[in-house]
Amino acid sequence: MGYVEEVFEKVKAKNAAEPEFLQAVEEVLESLKPVIEKNEEAYRKAALLERIVEPERQIKFRVPWVDDSGQVQVNTGYRVQFNSAIGPYKGGLRFHPSVYLGIIKFLGFEQIFKNSLTGLPIGGGKGGSDFDPKGKSDREVMAFCQSFMTELCKYIGKDEDVPAGDIGVGGREIGFMFGQYKRITGQYEGVLTGKGLTFGGSLARTEATGYGLLYLTEEMLKSNAQDIKGKTIAVSGSGNVAIYAIEKAKQLGAKPVTCSDSTGWIYDPEGIDVDLLKEVKEINRARLTEYAQKRSSAEYHEGKGVWSVKVDVALPCATQNELTLDDAKTLVSNGVIAVAEGANMPTTLDATKYLQENKVLFCPGKASNAGGVATSALEMSQNSERLSWTFEEVDGKLKQIMVDIFHNIDDAAKRYDMEGNYVAGANIAGFEKVATAMMAQGVV
Ligand code: NDP
Repeated sequence: MGYVEEVFEKVKAKNAAEPEFLQAVEEVLESLKPVIEKNEEAYRKAALLERIVEPERQIKFRVPWVDDSGQVQVNTGYRVQFNSAIGPYKGGLRFHPSVYLGIIKFLGFEQIFKNSLTGLPIGGGKGGSDFDPKGKSDREVMAFCQSFMTELCKYIGKDEDVPAGDIGVGGREIGFMFGQYKRITGQYEGVLTGKGLTFGGSLARTEATGYGLLYLTEEMLKSNAQDIKGKTIAVSGSGNVAIYAIEKAKQLGAKPVTCSDSTGWIYDPEGIDVDLLKEVKEINRARLTEYAQKRSSAEYHEGKGVWSVKVDVALPCATQNELTLDDAKTLVSNGVIAVAEGANMPTTLDATKYLQENKVLFCPGKASNAGGVATSALEMSQNSERLSWTFEEVDGKLKQIMVDIFHNIDDAAKRYDMEGNYVAGANIAGFEKVATAMMAQGVV
């Protein structure tokens, strides 16, 4: 058995109850094989892979809070500080009822390679809670966030670990958590990113993941003699990533025709009206039925279905494992030419393989959604300088970072004779920098 297989067997035995984490590790290790085989002896001696799959630290804590009826509620909080070889831990917080340690570990593991790909000095981490902000009052969300931060503040800091948002954690939640951190520690520092613009936030951070996804998709198409202009696009989700992916797609001359939430989806052949979508989701925090009521060209369907629409490009921007093998088959038979992940691991492993085998350009989330964390790192730089850059300055840097990421992963794939395999390219390019830093830093 080769070194990669050996390590994966150990990971499976040790983390059997965490399928999402195993899926992420399998995908990464599998595509790293050619790199590992070249340096097998040194890596094996240094137990490099065993160390890279084991979080440096994982923190699990109780989060008690009082709801509006006076009842005490208890949730579980997590922070997994996965790898600090190339910088302080950086990665979002997810508040969703599906959160457990395995989800946070899968996201933290992916984050190591994603952060490395940005070219910026940030390590990998992730956190969150099984708390569901949906249907809660602002006061309840504040009570939860304050209790969560009361514990989390012991483990984070501007040079140590800098969390951000993810599913269920937007500007409102970051604001409440920043306030509590400041109150407890007395420090006004860039300990969280995604902050409001009046207290250290960066222009273009809100838009960054969705815009970055489109910048990379545009570059990937361009490198393959295609133009994003005029392409029809299916987007899933209707949260932060999806909204700004739709906005940028329209700015680039493409036509996004779908979006979804956890109860249903919209098909709007005229193109999604992004202002209306923002009103429904960002302001009213309502369901997509409201979008359909206000827009005559839109059809609303219950359940799943965005991948059944005939499109040129698919951008999954909701959650993990939302694009399955059956969906991939439908997309291929409808003539899709590219799939780029806005969400983290939205495509199942078998669906990814099917798309690649059928010559669909496929970019994994750790490359295509890295614009969010990259701009978070730019927010950290601005906080350290105590300066704020203009929207154009941040957006310009974001675009350059995404273009560079695409060429890095494209080159890495070519170096290992896997031209066009951007999954392998992303894992290899992300891994190389982290592995070199870990080897140089000794047994830590
Ligand atoms: P939001 O909470 O803003 O939006 C999530 C969207 O996905 C909502 O439309 C939500 O619907 C839908 N969704 C969430 N869970 C499920 C589910 N289990 N089934 C069906 N639909 C679901 O999150 P973001 O837009 O921030 O994040 C989306 C994805 O992008 C995640 O995978 C996240 O990890 C990833 N990502 C986010 C970054 C960021 O900067 N925000 C950066 C990089 C990656 P509903 O409202 O009904 O729950």
